[in-house]
Amino acid sequence: MSFIDSEMVKIFSQSELWNLYCVRGPRPGQMYEFIHRRLSAWEPQLLGHSYQGRAIYGYTLGQGEKKVLMWSQMHGNEPFSSYALLLAMEFLQSGSELARIIRKQVQVTAIPMLNPDGSVAFVRRNAQGIDINRDALRRITPEAKILVQVFEKLQPGFCFNLHDQEVYYAPQGQDRPSAMAFLVPAADNSKRITPSRAQGMDILGFVASQLAGYPLAKYNDSFMPTAFGDYFSSQGAVTMLFETGYLIGDKWRRETTKLHAQAIVLALGRIVETDGKDYSGFYHALPFNQKHAFFDFIMKNVILTDQKHEFTVDLAINRNRLDPDKFVSVDDEYFIFDIGDLTDRKAFVVEDFKRKLVLPKEKIYMYAPANWLLTHFN
Ligand SMILES: [Zn+2]
Repeated sequence: MSFIDSEMVKIFSQSELWNLYCVRGPRPGQMYEFIHRRLSAWEPQLLGHSYQGRAIYGYTLGQGEKKVLMWSQMHGNEPFSSYALLLAMEFLQSGSELARIIRKQVQVTAIPMLNPDGSVAFVRRNAQGIDINRDALRRITPEAKILVQVFEKLQPGFCFNLHDQEVYYAPQGQDRPSAMAFLVPAADNSKRITPSRAQGMDILGFVASQLAGYPLAKYNDSFMPTAFGDYFSSQGAVTMLFETGYLIGDKWRRETTKLHAQAIVLALGRIVETDGKDYSGFYHALPFNQKHAFFDFIMKNVILTDQKHEFTVDLAINRNRLDPDKFVSVDDEYFIFDIGDLTDRKAFVVEDFKRKLVLPKEKIYMYAPANWLLTHFN
């Protein structure tokens, strides 16, 4: 079966979805209207309502016996995963040979915005202030209840848990940020490789083998019983985490959004392929995803001084990415994220001041505003 599909390339680059594209993500109504108009092969179902009463829809396509459940934007401020899911949905309803094979053998149910309240407020958590991805067991949130109800009714063999990660991650030991990261979550504290986990590792290993030119990573698999991936894994479903990462220069994360969509399709392709091969080695070979591997800026060898002392440090500065409207303006807010010997740390911009810049120590402390420091860069 061919996974290099001209139809996919065309849809991913020319989709009308790009008209809705912005770093804050679509409004729920905009998204549902787009699906109604452009993804009409998908059958909608009202699954329930968020804490603030917003509708949460699921969409189903395909006649196959293998059931796949996918959801995105369980964290409201992770819209790229939703765009990726919508691109994948557009491809899956297309006339491409690969899409046709998948539709025949698989039935996909997609929930492209599990946390509409969080997405409107552009925050991670739901309107109760709860992280839905830590509510798989007690289900205090209506959104977690809905996801479990769908899971129990559908009894999917496969679960795709779609997220975005911060831009500062890198595959351990590499100098580029992670373009995508994956995980087949543990099913219990022992982290043993159950048959379902082995299949998940084969699927994601296959995805990694196809996207081998990109810097990819895997998350550590410590068992988190209250997280949805781990919970569905413990229930025996083949569960996989997909995280949109970052490529340097791709400020709007369009390329990684397309990459994420491609990973979703590749994983579905692997589910329908029965060639008897085992790709799990590619999964195991992925480096771990290192947090805070990158900063936005590093100032090397600046002198800090007060009335009594003088010493040389490196400074790391990050952009406040909580407000993406500021992300694209000249008035971005920056703050100091680390101070000291940052010899082994990486940044998108590094400048060595060679002890020629003297800064007042009282203005340099953790999380201090740092916009004024950027004027020193070339
Ligand atoms: Zn997330």
